[in-house]
Amino acid sequence: MNKSEFKTFLSAVPKAELHLHLEAVITISGIKKLYKNKFGKEMTKEEQKELFSYNDLNGFIQSFLKIQGMYSSVNDFKIVFDELEKYLVKNGITYTEVFFAPTAFLKMGFKYEDMVKIFHEKISKIKEKRGITVKLLMDVSRTFGCENAMKNYNLLKEFPCEDIIGIGLGGAEAKGPAKEYAPVYEQALKDGFKAVAHAGEDVGPESIWDSINFLHAQRIGHGITAIQDEKLMEEIKKTKLPIEICITSNTFTKKIVQKAKDHPVRAFYDKGLPVNINTDDPVFFKTTLLDEFWICHKDLNFTMDEIKDLVKNSFRQSFMSEADKKKAVKSVDDAWQI
Ligand SMILES: [Zn+2]
Repeated sequence: MNKSEFKTFLSAVPKAELHLHLEAVITISGIKKLYKNKFGKEMTKEEQKELFSYNDLNGFIQSFLKIQGMYSSVNDFKIVFDELEKYLVKNGITYTEVFFAPTAFLKMGFKYEDMVKIFHEKISKIKEKRGITVKLLMDVSRTFGCENAMKNYNLLKEFPCEDIIGIGLGGAEAKGPAKEYAPVYEQALKDGFKAVAHAGEDVGPESIWDSINFLHAQRIGHGITAIQDEKLMEEIKKTKLPIEICITSNTFTKKIVQKAKDHPVRAFYDKGLPVNINTDDPVFFKTTLLDEFWICHKDLNFTMDEIKDLVKNSFRQSFMSEADKKKAVKSVDDAWQI
């Protein structure tokens, strides 16, 4: 199968994506709309170029924050959800758990309850129109300290929304060690929320250990530095702790992996670690979920049977009910006609 045949085939198979940031689904045309709303003029070519020129995690985070700064009001989230809908349809994604990071918006004076109202409206419409389930995970953020993260979490609790099922911890890993956020995770898990954490993306295996021991994270985002620690890999295998793999994102930030061919996902899978495939920030890293599976097939020699298993893993390792997981896995088998 060549790339285009592969993508056409796979787009018709139901898929899930579990590591995706809402603000990074917006395309350049959406960003231009935000810019025009905010500044009353068109964005220049130079500004566009500058926005997408970064070569490490920090530079990327700066661009991410810059785009968040272009929102004029909560209504701009409508543009983002429209882009999310297009992205999901194009990739044949039927279920997704998406991160949203409220800190920058709250700092800009947006009201959390207004944001959530729009999220719910748009998510309900996507379900009604496309039959796609979108769940959200609040990225409480490790960039602004534990007090800020707790404030975010308290809003989640104060304004309950059926679409928001838990919390995540994204941002600058080196600046925000996982253990500092233990109080937030303890509270969220006690309250019945799901809890995941980015770890081992650009910090060593100790960051993953901390996310396991102090945060009790139910999934690890990236987790690639686990490859440096045999004992940790054994632990992940034994406890069946899912790892959200984002190949292109890792080769873009280049901290641990330089080329897709060298990505540890192959070793993780062969060792029996639970892995699922994601894009992280599709627009920023110029990728799609279909592209990520193609990279697995072409650069990492995953056979079509293994690709099918990876597709199923995303459903199995999601926060769906057990009954829904079973249905979703069957829908993959039904659609897999080679
Ligand atoms: Zn991420």
